[in-house]
Amino acid sequence: MTSPIDKLVHALGKLPGVGERTATRLAFFLLRAPKQIAKDLSEALKELHDKVKLCSVCCNIADKDPCRFCSGGRRDQNLICVVEEPSDVSAIEKTGAFRGVYHVLHGALSPLDGIGPEDLKVQELLNRLKDSHPKEIILATNANVEGDATSLYLARLLKPLGVRITRLASGIPVGGELEYLDASTLSKALEDRREMN
Ligand SMILES: [Zn+2]
Repeated sequence: MTSPIDKLVHALGKLPGVGERTATRLAFFLLRAPKQIAKDLSEALKELHDKVKLCSVCCNIADKDPCRFCSGGRRDQNLICVVEEPSDVSAIEKTGAFRGVYHVLHGALSPLDGIGPEDLKVQELLNRLKDSHPKEIILATNANVEGDATSLYLARLLKPLGVRITRLASGIPVGGELEYLDASTLSKALEDRREMN
């Protein structure tokens, strides 16, 4: 039988960026640290999937479904901003420069890591576009290889729908991740977005 320590090391080792060494170090830390730390962690993990919901429209994390962006008439439903992560929604919201709605992919294409379209909320986006006909879709993925590949893929996929497709302006430093940009750079990139062909 696997020991609880081995089980924990195995589980932790599945987290991104955590190799076996780090997983082992974390597991022994949790064993030696005050019991409460492991207790809090296990409680938070248990609640994660029960209490955090995804909006059935935009796939953003939300405490209600549909989320506050998708429900009510305060946001422009004709303008959809596609981002990689929920943290990107927070980053764009901080600029105060965007009045549309979002679609959260929950990642980016990365063939090397085995992440394809079926691992992202792409089908959800297509389903959504069957019922609604937005005027514009802004592809606001990160300015790195994965983000660019994801935007190109989506642009090709969405083009036949006849919707205007734009990409954030290249004011973003190469390799730049949205969530680390300051609000003024990000709102400028939104403002100067360019058409994708
Ligand atoms: Zn939503």
